[in-house]
Amino acid sequence: MDINQLIDIDREHVWHPYTSMHKPLPVYPVERAESCTIYLKDGRALTDGMSSWWAAVHGYNHPVLNAAVEKQLKSMSHVMFGGLTHAPAVELASRLVALTPPVLQKVFFCDSGSVAVEVAMKLALQYWIAQGQSEKSKFATIRSGYHGDTWNAMSVCDPETGMHHIFSKALPVHFFATQPRCPFGSSAIQPDVEAVHAILQKHHNEIAAFILEPIVQGAGGMWFYSADYLRELRSLCNRYNVLLIADEIASGFGRTGKLFACEHADITPDIMCLGKAITGGYMSFAATLTTNLVAETISNGQPGVFMHGPTFMGNPLACAVANASIDLLMKPNWEQKVQHIEAQLQKGLSPCRQLHNVKEVRCLGAIGVVELHQPVDMAVVQQRFVELGVWVRPFGQNVYLMPPFIICDDELEKLCSAVYQVVKEEGAQ
Ligand code: PMP
Repeated sequence: MDINQLIDIDREHVWHPYTSMHKPLPVYPVERAESCTIYLKDGRALTDGMSSWWAAVHGYNHPVLNAAVEKQLKSMSHVMFGGLTHAPAVELASRLVALTPPVLQKVFFCDSGSVAVEVAMKLALQYWIAQGQSEKSKFATIRSGYHGDTWNAMSVCDPETGMHHIFSKALPVHFFATQPRCPFGSSAIQPDVEAVHAILQKHHNEIAAFILEPIVQGAGGMWFYSADYLRELRSLCNRYNVLLIADEIASGFGRTGKLFACEHADITPDIMCLGKAITGGYMSFAATLTTNLVAETISNGQPGVFMHGPTFMGNPLACAVANASIDLLMKPNWEQKVQHIEAQLQKGLSPCRQLHNVKEVRCLGAIGVVELHQPVDMAVVQQRFVELGVWVRPFGQNVYLMPPFIICDDELEKLCSAVYQVVKEEGAQ
């Protein structure tokens, strides 16, 4: 198929994320991807600033990850997980239990991040049902969060930037505290904590769990908030007998400079969702971890089992590549690598602070965000980034970088100067 045919058929039949089939934005056909470069079919090479939405932490076409998939493929690509088990899944569960806070002992494998969130919410509900407290069936969260596009995940996404207005008649209604305005590195401020306190004090008898993205709110606004606030929130959940679900789907596996973002606040959730980088971006896979207490309570209650079991649960290919990806990540110098990326992002993006259309520049771990006063024109900006030889995909008013951890200084410099250039041009419009 030549490139024009491919684009035509794509335009006619293929739906892309959050797009119109009536007025589709341009899409760029990819030939292959290698290390930190995406090679387009038209011959252009783009330095990757996105890690394919937080996932490809080791870059593309990695020989170690390829070998893990190929080896696994020779024994089995999939078997059902009901009544059967296998080494890749058991090894992955052991790794996850060893790396996450010690109280998280039970692992449920899922197909995607959104499903991991659904599973977390169902675990919380079943935990209370098992104790005869089925009235604890609501959730609380903070504004500007994002937890996925499936039904219940959607119901705890930000009510304004999420999809509540379209689906509001069908979505369950939960409790939203204000977005914490205390930035990362500062102490919690009282109005932020008070907003959570007020909800829990009044509604704790109805609330199964508080769900939020620890430290970094991703798709809801790329905002980094205070670790102190997260600590206060954990203690309020304890005080009011509400479970805490940490959605580490985007923040997990080193992206924020700690292996898991909860570590910034030194807190342990009752339920933790992992996804995205778990397979190094090789395939859709996720996991929901919980405590022995939650697991035993569910198992001792009615109906005595956890009510979930996807067809592709514990897929061996995904588990095998996840094991290899985690081993690659856990090399002794991983923290220095992410710290180095943070320093480079700080240096490379700081000239953007001088631009009149820039509201704020913030960096944490391997995430660099340039927040503008106004949303960018996606179609224009995307094309300019491609012309400058980089793959950067802003949303709303955030132009951001989250490169693979293997990125080198020259590539990062290229990404940062492309961001500066494009944001400057945007300001001149
Ligand atoms: N939670 C968070 C914090 C996310 O960033 C995302 C994806 N952007 C999800 C959940 C949903 O994951 P998936 O797209 O794999 O369903």
